[in-house]
Amino acid sequence: MNRTPITPFRARAEIDLAALRANVRSLDARTPGAAVMAVVKADGYGHGAVPCARAALQAGATWIGTATPHEALALREAGIEAPLLCWLWTPGGPWREGIEAGLDMSVSGMWALTEVIAAAREANAGPARIQLKADTGLGRNGCQPADWPELVAAALAAEAEGTVKVTGVWSHFACADEPGHPSIPLQLDAFREMLGYAEKAGLDPEVRHMANSPAALTLPATHFDLVRTGIAVYGISPAPELGTHTELGLRPVMTLTASVALVKNVPAGHGVSYGHHYITPGETTLGLIPIGYADGVPRHASGRGPVLVGGERRTVAGRVAMDQFVVDLGGQKVQEGAEAVLFGPGDRGEPSAEDWAEAAGTIAYEIVTRIGKRVPRVYLNEKP
Ligand SMILES: *Cc1c(COP(=O)(O)O)cnc(C)c1O
Repeated sequence: MNRTPITPFRARAEIDLAALRANVRSLDARTPGAAVMAVVKADGYGHGAVPCARAALQAGATWIGTATPHEALALREAGIEAPLLCWLWTPGGPWREGIEAGLDMSVSGMWALTEVIAAAREANAGPARIQLKADTGLGRNGCQPADWPELVAAALAAEAEGTVKVTGVWSHFACADEPGHPSIPLQLDAFREMLGYAEKAGLDPEVRHMANSPAALTLPATHFDLVRTGIAVYGISPAPELGTHTELGLRPVMTLTASVALVKNVPAGHGVSYGHHYITPGETTLGLIPIGYADGVPRHASGRGPVLVGGERRTVAGRVAMDQFVVDLGGQKVQEGAEAVLFGPGDRGEPSAEDWAEAAGTIAYEIVTRIGKRVPRVYLNEKP
């Protein structure tokens, strides 16, 4: 019997805020001359937006970024006072609340500028802080070069009227995680051109920015005044091509564990889990791991996902179910209540979130972000 201490919880995600702070310091050191924005959208990539934002600011990040305005407003309500940019707006969004909360609000088109100007006239709370987003080639959000002169002219007119202040001009890469991709220099040129146009026209932004984590880590020419780092803050490599987290000087922040719920002997030829996609090749022991796709364990990793149990690397046997999956322990008699580690920094030989991404045919961003609400987050090394 492997008498590891029992773990009195079904599953949990430990969030090591000391690791997060070290990652922010490392990113800051690698991007001299640029400020660091910690991106905490999607509840801090599944790690918890508020504690992660606080820890990032303690470690030298000076900006916080979110996708939606609601995420940004929730951070303000939690007492986060740092400059805070949110970029994914839809018509009828909370512009007025954003102005009153002092958010930096991204504008990608005329509809958004019209709405923010109207809200600023009503709010009577000083100019709305807006950042104009340029589509330099991503083809997602952002203003096309052909529409840029109209947007810039309208923003200048609103500045003259005192309703808005353009605090930033920015853009986003399509392929910064693919070293040598020809779109990278093309997007950089397009950004310089659109930025130059805006400045010549009379805008004087506080920050110009383009780099996400892969660009911050590998493309110094893209750093400008600010880097918007998300995945790297959480200690995860943006892409295997760029190196492992260790090679990039990062330490994974999340460790996902579960308590082994049942261990039993089964005969050879026994089907395992829905559909019987795994049949025991011989007499063996099976371990039940009480965490499933409702918790964010990808069903696509059925038959492939790696887990550390009883000191050994095991593999998901058969299908991942909604709440649980099974591993073949190969005869090992692991104790119920022993810890199963799905992923973590690797100190004990456990897999990484990147390993799960590979097993599920996805990216590590999706692995950590989808860890569900049913998994409690437990914060380690929090600094008051
Ligand atoms: C998510 C996001 C980021 C952060 O990207 P990472 O690759 O996680 O660093 C930066 N900018 C924008 C616009 C984003 O949506």
